[in-house]
Amino acid sequence: MTDWQDLTMPEFEAFREKSRTVLLPVGSLEEHGPHLPLGTDLFHAWELARRVGKEHPVLVAPPLFYGVCRSTREHPGTVSLGGDALRALVKDLGREFSRQGFSNLVIISGHAGGTHMAALLEAGEALLEELPRMGVAVVNILDLLREILMENPQLVRTKGDSHAGEVETALMLAAKPQLVKGTAPEEWPTFPKYILVRDKRRFWPGGVWGDPANATAAQGEEILRLETRRLIRVIAALEQMEQEEQK
Ligand SMILES: [Zn+2]
Repeated sequence: MTDWQDLTMPEFEAFREKSRTVLLPVGSLEEHGPHLPLGTDLFHAWELARRVGKEHPVLVAPPLFYGVCRSTREHPGTVSLGGDALRALVKDLGREFSRQGFSNLVIISGHAGGTHMAALLEAGEALLEELPRMGVAVVNILDLLREILMENPQLVRTKGDSHAGEVETALMLAAKPQLVKGTAPEEWPTFPKYILVRDKRRFWPGGVWGDPANATAAQGEEILRLETRRLIRVIAALEQMEQEEQK
């Protein structure tokens, strides 16, 4: 496993001979119900990045703790960036990674909100346009999980489980058990369709979307194992494309 911030300058130079791929874990600082830590999304993405780093030569960049949060903005503990700030930050980091000799950037986001993902995708597209030798992948954990559940539907019992529900509780029981404070009642928010609401907590008081009751650490461990495998496949495909383009 290789964390950028832990290396010395000569170690960094030596690593660059082995791999040109950098992984940027992105999270959000956001309420995750009464039982999960505010950093859940980042802890998930970072844990996954580090597991990938143990099996595949990639450099794990210091993570980005903040993201764009919309529906949890009014809940205590949520801190959101604006889309402009996130785009600018990811673009600057991508340019710097490229200047330091990396040609593949894999953004792995533990937060999957639509506005957040749009900012990451736009930043990725801008980097492609600006840096002809740079390959970019933007992965959100919810998409990885959907793919996993198509092949392993028995892994999660709650249908439509999303925020701070069975999956995220299981993941935190595996990755950060000391930060899990029991469980929480199931909750199924009903926001009005099309209409943007100012008082978001009125429609989502508890901050859970799903049912955490069934979550286990073993389940979280299995999800992380399968996510690691899938993400390594994405990275290998990106690296393969880079090699083909250089021929
Ligand atoms: Zn989350």
